[in-house]
Amino acid sequence: MKYVLVTGGVVSGLGKGVTASSVGVVLKACGLRVTSIKIDPYLNTDAGTMSPFEHGEVFVLDDGGEVDLDLGNYERFLDVTLTRENNITTGKIYQSVLEKERKGDYLGKTVQVVPHITDAIKNWIESVSVIPVDGTDGPADVCVIELGGTVGDIESMPFIEALRQLFFSVGKFALFAEFFNGLFKTCTNVLLAYFLKFCQIIISFCTDLLLFWRTGQDHFCLIHVSLIPVLGVVGEQKTKPTQHSVRELRALGLTPHFLACRSAQPLLENTKQKLSQFCHVPVGNILNIHDVPNIWHVPLLLRNQNAHDAILKHLDLSSVAKPPNLQ
Ligand code: ADP
Repeated sequence: MKYVLVTGGVVSGLGKGVTASSVGVVLKACGLRVTSIKIDPYLNTDAGTMSPFEHGEVFVLDDGGEVDLDLGNYERFLDVTLTRENNITTGKIYQSVLEKERKGDYLGKTVQVVPHITDAIKNWIESVSVIPVDGTDGPADVCVIELGGTVGDIESMPFIEALRQLFFSVGKFALFAEFFNGLFKTCTNVLLAYFLKFCQIIISFCTDLLLFWRTGQDHFCLIHVSLIPVLGVVGEQKTKPTQHSVRELRALGLTPHFLACRSAQPLLENTKQKLSQFCHVPVGNILNIHDVPNIWHVPLLLRNQNAHDAILKHLDLSSVAKPPNLQ
């Protein structure tokens, strides 16, 4: 499973949902099977009880789940049927952890945000990402995850930490290491247990050497949606808010591979150069998502910038994808 994470910086309502859906559309147009997860860092269990004046309309899924409107965008853009589990909220995660705690599943341990809440988030993402949503059997090729809110919000911290850990461990060798670790814990024969521990240490050593593999770079792609404002008097596209939000993201252990820049007008070449230089993102990975009259234009905007090529290359999926079939 490959993951594309969409985060947002500077202000809310930038178009993370539209960007995530559009990325899904271009990947699907390249012949890949796509699923999606929306993370809402609020404490409500679902959007069913939230005021539509404050939150926008509630979208009702086929299984009766009352969820965020963005799930509706995913269903329409990607032609998939999502489940209520595809919408993760802080409320749902805490509810599941507290239920386990009451049942005594934590065996007397102190239940904490790290590792119990973060582990619950990781497990939830891993189990939901493999649910088939497009009417075909088997898991999708790519799971697009949208993290609601803005990077730096207190509410989204456990999700960012869980995603950081998840993406660090999705590398191929790290999975081997975890496998041996699991065997070691369950092994009753002492000699065999120490042999397995030895294997695990060797593998960990190799993964350290092959850092590229260990961090799962080709399993995960982070697209950070940010705002490029234009100051009326100066008339210049400003990159500083984006620089700050990228710095915030990095401080939390996540590095953006792509920047999706929301602006009133298309980005100027020198704005892209500046963003690339200060945000440490290649110019080719700076995507321009300016205001369009209709959000259905956004997938075309991405296709015209060859965003699919760069994302597929990053995820090492170029060999299995075909040219995008988008009109
Ligand atoms: P977020 O997920 O960041 O809260 P949404 O994806 O819900 O943002 O989008 C917020 C609003 O902005 C929606 O009304 C959407 O139609 C609009 N929007 C998003 N991207 C664009 C764009 N490129 N051009 C014009 N409107 C857009």
